[in-house]
Amino acid sequence: MTTDWYRDDILVGGKWRPVRRTHQVVSPATGWPVGRAAKADRADVDAAVRAAGDALPEWRATSPRVRAEGLTALHAELTACRDELTACIVAELGAPVRLAREAHVDMALDVLAGFIPIAEELAEPTKAGSSLVFAQAAGVAACITPWNYPLYQLIAKVGAALAAGCSVVAKPAELTPLSAYLLADAVLAAGMPDGVLNLVPGSGTEVGAALVGHRGVAAVSFTGSTAVGRQIGRSAGEALQRMSLELGGKSASVVLDDADLPSAVAATVDSACYNSGQTCSAWTRLLVPRPRYEEALHLAAQRAGELIVGDPADEATDLGPLVSVGQRETVAGFVDRAVDGGARLVCGGSDRPAGLDSGHYYLPTVLADVGTADEISREEVFGPVLVVLAHDGDDDAVRVANDSDYGLAGAVWSGDESRALKVAARLETGQVDLNGAAFNPVAPFGGWKSSGVGRELGRHGVHEFCEFTSVQI
Ligand code: NAD
Repeated sequence: MTTDWYRDDILVGGKWRPVRRTHQVVSPATGWPVGRAAKADRADVDAAVRAAGDALPEWRATSPRVRAEGLTALHAELTACRDELTACIVAELGAPVRLAREAHVDMALDVLAGFIPIAEELAEPTKAGSSLVFAQAAGVAACITPWNYPLYQLIAKVGAALAAGCSVVAKPAELTPLSAYLLADAVLAAGMPDGVLNLVPGSGTEVGAALVGHRGVAAVSFTGSTAVGRQIGRSAGEALQRMSLELGGKSASVVLDDADLPSAVAATVDSACYNSGQTCSAWTRLLVPRPRYEEALHLAAQRAGELIVGDPADEATDLGPLVSVGQRETVAGFVDRAVDGGARLVCGGSDRPAGLDSGHYYLPTVLADVGTADEISREEVFGPVLVVLAHDGDDDAVRVANDSDYGLAGAVWSGDESRALKVAARLETGQVDLNGAAFNPVAPFGGWKSSGVGRELGRHGVHEFCEFTSVQI
């Protein structure tokens, strides 16, 4: 595995090709350069799609069991360079090293491992009554990813596509392309056939837009903002490409009146601040029983104050900087407008954390006394910001939780699991965790409403890259 993070090349048909334009990658913590990536253009996209098309027939025809072996080899390569992947994510995203290791790298490895048995499963047709149903690779897949979990999101797409037998053209986010190079190097080192993964870093408007609607692309898998997702949906719809869109969120953590309030509040603050709040599935609305509102605010401020904001290289750090100066301005804008509009700033806000004069740091922030129609209760902030709302019982909690344009994730907390389950089943959202249950890397992940179309991870994720042929006998 290479340790060179200064790259000027794209991967096409199994060969690294230098390109003329590059762009610098800087650390969000220091502003110093940490690497360089190619800036591909439309001609590069054409070449990459052609190479993926050339690789497709053989890869699609490869036994699913052999594809599973390829993914196993890739998993081993990535595991062997876990430390370098972690360091790379600390450098390009500013994620704290502990989080980078556990949530960015190990979680990505778990997701990749989850695809291996599903690849094997595709070897046999399934039955629908008397018919046999064959899953086949949809074709060339374009995988376009954001900066917030750069490795994880690429693996969630590339692993599923390769398992299905698709060949791939990947476009990582401009701010965080370095880990994508490490993934591409690992694919080559794992001995996967030339052209099954092609990598074209570059801008969204040039490279991303050229991939969506491209005649050689059969499936588009996109993770990013809802605004860009809508544009991609229009173009992919026009071209009748299969599409999967993983978009934003404003998820509710619903605390019922028989729950352990301190644990529920602490876990919700942690979720809202995870990855410095740059997590699509973060629980950013805390819904608590009205009589316990002030107590919940006190607990939330207490937990927020315990979280350590600081140098991402430090093992003790909980929150690193936000990814860019623009992201910090966006987050500060949301909070300032909320406070100007009458919200109570329980803790945090736009003041710089003590001792952190450079870097795009933002303190864990809790806001109270907001209405469900207020911007801060409806829009995705993508920073460590939690709003606390009151509810008047289970039905009201479900109503408030569902009063959102989004529906990506959520939580329910109750001393009675069957009661929690009843509430969870009424939430219009893709994933719900009961009483702090752990993330499941093979459970379907995706959104209702403005949170997207389609599902990632496990069997559902692989099927997004499949066409199904039923044969009547
Ligand atoms: P973004 O939408 O700006 O960019 C995402 C990717 O799309 C980047 O690679 C970008 O270059 C590319 N892109 C931009 N314009 C494009 C276009 N016109 N055509 C094709 N590609 C284009 O998002 P971001 O700022 O990088 O990421 C943050 C957003 O991602 C947040 O809204 C967050 O909620 C969302 N997100 C969602 C999930 C999920 O699974 N639902 C996961 C992570 C992030």
